[in-house]
Parts: sequence; structure tokens; C-alpha cells
Amino acid sequence: MLSPLLDNLARAFGALPGIGRKTAQRLAIHLVSQKPEVARELSDALREAVDQVGHCEQCRNLTEEPLCQLCRDVKRDDSTLCVVESPMDVVAIEASGGYRGRYFVLFGRLSPIDAVGPEQLHLDSLEQLVTDLPVEEVILATNLTVEGEATAHFISEMVKRQGIRVSRI
Ligand code: ZN
Repeated sequence: MLSPLLDNLARAFGALPGIGRKTAQRLAIHLVSQKPEVARELSDALREAVDQVGHCEQCRNLTEEPLCQLCRDVKRDDSTLCVVESPMDVVAIEASGGYRGRYFVLFGRLSPIDAVGPEQLHLDSLEQLVTDLPVEEVILATNLTVEGEATAHFISEMVKRQGIRVSRI
């Protein structure tokens, strides 16, 4: 039995992806039993990130600047644009080290059941970006799920209308 405040904290942790009830309770107990600095540092970092991080004006990835680091990098190749579902995909592709082009982050996939349409994925911004940059090839790196494939197909049709080459990974 946890006290009401600890129970609140555990519930907040439990709302996170991949964290079950037991783990949430353990985390809550751990944080308040340890040195208060540790918990305060976490709390400050969380508040700061939530207050200051927003979307990059160009690729929609998360950043506290108007343009993210990758979009500000003049050495990146403007002729290739890789479309991904989440910021974690950018992290993974950058870690692999082979890609030097630009990105666009959808923050999801087309899903009529969840009321996620082209508007929610800001596909108009993607269309605009493809026009603004001298893009020659769009690489569709959405997940290989039914919805990921449908999203890739939709974007592919949109981009091909502008006479730009499309590839799928
Ligand atoms: Zn960016």
C-alpha cells in the first residue's frame, strides 16, 4: 500500500510506454528514498524539456531551436529526403552513419481508425519542403506495418506528382 502522493507518482510512471504497475511503484519508491538531488534533477530536466522542446520548422523533429541541428547543417545533402515515423528512426539512421541527406518526421502513420489523416502528419509541410529544397529523391522509411505501407503509398503518390523519384526501405 503506497501513500496517496507516492501512488500518484507511480500512476504517472505507469502511464509511460513499457512500464508496468510493479515497475512504476518501484520507481516511485526509489526516487523518494534516494538523495533528493537525484529526483530534483530528474524533475528539472523533465520540466525544462517539456517547456522548451518543440518541432523543427523544417523537418518537424524535436528541438528547442527554430531549426534542428540536422536542418542547420549546411553540409547535409539537400537532394535526398528521408521520411520517417518517429524521432527514434532519425536516431537509428544517424547511428548507422551512412545517410547524409535531409529528414521529415511524421510523428505517426496514416490511421483512419485513430483519426490520423494527412493533416495530422503535416503532409502539406512535407509537400512544401520537397518543393523548397532541391530534392531529387524521397526515401520512404516508414515501418513495414499495414499502416506504414499505406502511409508510404500515399506519400509516394503525392511526391511522384511533383516528378520526384521515390524509393522505399
Ligand atoms: Zn529539422
